[in-house]
Amino acid sequence: MLAVTAVSDVRTVGVVGGSLGGLFQAVALAELGLDVTVWERSAGRPDDRGAGIVLQPSVAWFLSVFCGVDPDRISVPVTHRQFFGRDGRSHHTLMRQRMISWGAIYTSLRDRLDSERYHDGRRVTALTPWPDGVDVHLGEAVHPVDLAIIADGSASRHRGLVAPDGAPRYAGYVAYRGVIDEAELPEELSEVFRDRFSFYDGDRTQFLCYFIPGDFGSTTPGSRRMNWVWYVRADAAGLDRITTDRDGTAHGLSLPPGLMAARVRGELLDRARTSLPEPLRRLVEHTREPFAQAILDGHASRMRRGRTLLTGDAAFVVRPHTAASAEKAAADAIALFTALQQVPSVDAALQAWEKDRLAEGAALYQHGVRLGQRLGLGGPEADPPHRPAPGNAARGGS
Ligand SMILES: Cc1cc2nc3c(=O)[nH]c(=O)nc-3n(C[C@H](O)[C@H](O)[C@H](O)COP(=O)(O)OP(=O)(O)OC[C@H]3O[C@@H](n4cnc5c(N)ncnc54)[C@H](O)[C@@H]3O)c2cc1C
Repeated sequence: MLAVTAVSDVRTVGVVGGSLGGLFQAVALAELGLDVTVWERSAGRPDDRGAGIVLQPSVAWFLSVFCGVDPDRISVPVTHRQFFGRDGRSHHTLMRQRMISWGAIYTSLRDRLDSERYHDGRRVTALTPWPDGVDVHLGEAVHPVDLAIIADGSASRHRGLVAPDGAPRYAGYVAYRGVIDEAELPEELSEVFRDRFSFYDGDRTQFLCYFIPGDFGSTTPGSRRMNWVWYVRADAAGLDRITTDRDGTAHGLSLPPGLMAARVRGELLDRARTSLPEPLRRLVEHTREPFAQAILDGHASRMRRGRTLLTGDAAFVVRPHTAASAEKAAADAIALFTALQQVPSVDAALQAWEKDRLAEGAALYQHGVRLGQRLGLGGPEADPPHRPAPGNAARGGS
């Protein structure tokens, strides 16, 4: 006789947000045979500014088992960590890892989901819970579902339904970022970073870089892209300056590629010339369209209320030093897949899932704050009090 599991009581699932967090959930739950619908407010492909992502085990497992994609085929290997001194000299240690891009993960997940399940250009305006389900509102239209999953990112509009206390706060520093086509890099510079995950830890600053797949997931040397991230402290006024674009429009917590004001770009180049080792400075100089993101701390005290769940960055915004946000989103989805399959009632399954994911999220959150503090970048001790993040987007114009 087949075991009775929670999955037999859930038929329809609605997912709010179609970036990585929402897609991991949608693909996993569709694998369970559930009728899944994703609503994504951006039309077309959501913003790809996340650029490079360190490939971690849950993401690799997910791609391989649920998407039928060999993660090695769409990621770039590194064999060593390389540490620069201010004089440009470096030493390295053995450390095998693989680097992937946001776009390569997104494409693998989207390809796995039937197109009629994914509705882009559709903003969820409200969620109304009822005892055994949730009404998902898109303006006038209402879609009742048995289970709703909120995956609308760090600036989540719907988080408050589950965790009113979870809104993220600015951690006191920004990540300048850049992506350069490998073909545009001088060969000798490319060679410096070959097979390396490179770091420079300066005075309350950190720079890191690595190669990621190029367009269409290409990992062939010559067609990859160099991805760099530079953490720099900035007070609230500094953040506003950095994220106000060349036309004077304020973007709040992030600045998309191609919009940086000339004076901010000039300051970035000056800073690179005076404070970075030579090979890293050259990367900044070769970047046509640098962009920037505020670093946030977000910590929800709950991830479930009835049949509504929080996942991904909507639940915990962890510092990028952990290199584990996409990993956390994939693990949220794998854990829900497992709980619904193994536990006999929906409520018990969701309860078990929440307990597990809250503990993981809280531990990762703390780890990220500690890493940021260790680098002298910011944290509750370094920067009291945190400024509440404005209601607009941390990423992706979301
Ligand atoms: C500097 C930096 C470096 C990072 N590096 C890494 C790394 O190395 N490794 C890693 O794992 N992660 C990294 N990340 C984080 C990672 O990109 C995210 O954590 C991951 O993609 C999960 O995001 P998400 O899907 O939960 O949220 P998001 O990607 O923010 O997606 C939310 C989606 O919801 C949509 N949406 C919002 N409101 C609505 C609505 N009302 N209706 C419908 N749709 C809506 C948005 O348009 C958006 O597409 C980094 C992040 C930063 C800032």
